[in-house]
Amino acid sequence: MGHKQDIIEVGKRAWQRGWCADNSGNYSVRLGRDRFLVTRSGVSKGFMQVGDIVSCDLRGKKLSGRFDPSAEAVMHAAIYRARADVKAVFHEHPPFATGFALAGKGLEKPSWPELILNLGAVPCLPYRLPLSPELTRQVGQAIAKHDALLLGNHGAVTVAADIHKAYYRMELVEQAARVTLVARVLGGEKALSSKQVQELKQAAKRSKYAG
Ligand SMILES: [Zn+2]
Repeated sequence: MGHKQDIIEVGKRAWQRGWCADNSGNYSVRLGRDRFLVTRSGVSKGFMQVGDIVSCDLRGKKLSGRFDPSAEAVMHAAIYRARADVKAVFHEHPPFATGFALAGKGLEKPSWPELILNLGAVPCLPYRLPLSPELTRQVGQAIAKHDALLLGNHGAVTVAADIHKAYYRMELVEQAARVTLVARVLGGEKALSSKQVQELKQAAKRSKYAG
């Protein structure tokens, strides 16, 4: 499947999961060193066609396509400039992860092996005006150390070597937000000690266990 078909496919899944309302979210795939494909502005992610995906340079300026790129393409561009290993960016507003972002709370307590082993801590960045250079800069800096971020009062972003993996990482972030919320209703998640986290990582390495 081509990159555009892959983007259309993850959009359908995100829409089916109830992650996007109206035209929310934007996804991209890097094409070589200096350009990337990104979803256009003003389209439901559940019903995209090939023409709804346009190409941009690493400043977020459109290179080709009939429609304008998502206004948040500048954030994707900042991520690609910051991390040569990143080949795909997935930005959405899934309800549980976004609820944590509205509360300014990250998913940082090492309490769930699945999250510890696959993503580590997911911090929540302080609110910055959407589309602003400050937000772009902030995300570009924070993504150097994390594959998933919550954006304060906004949503979530994940990155990976391909768009399917970036999408799956968002599934994990959203699931972590759900289980953490349940744990908090029940008195709060219990953090593993740093010794327990070390043991877990070693055991996982030995057996290729990933939670
Ligand atoms: Zn957004």
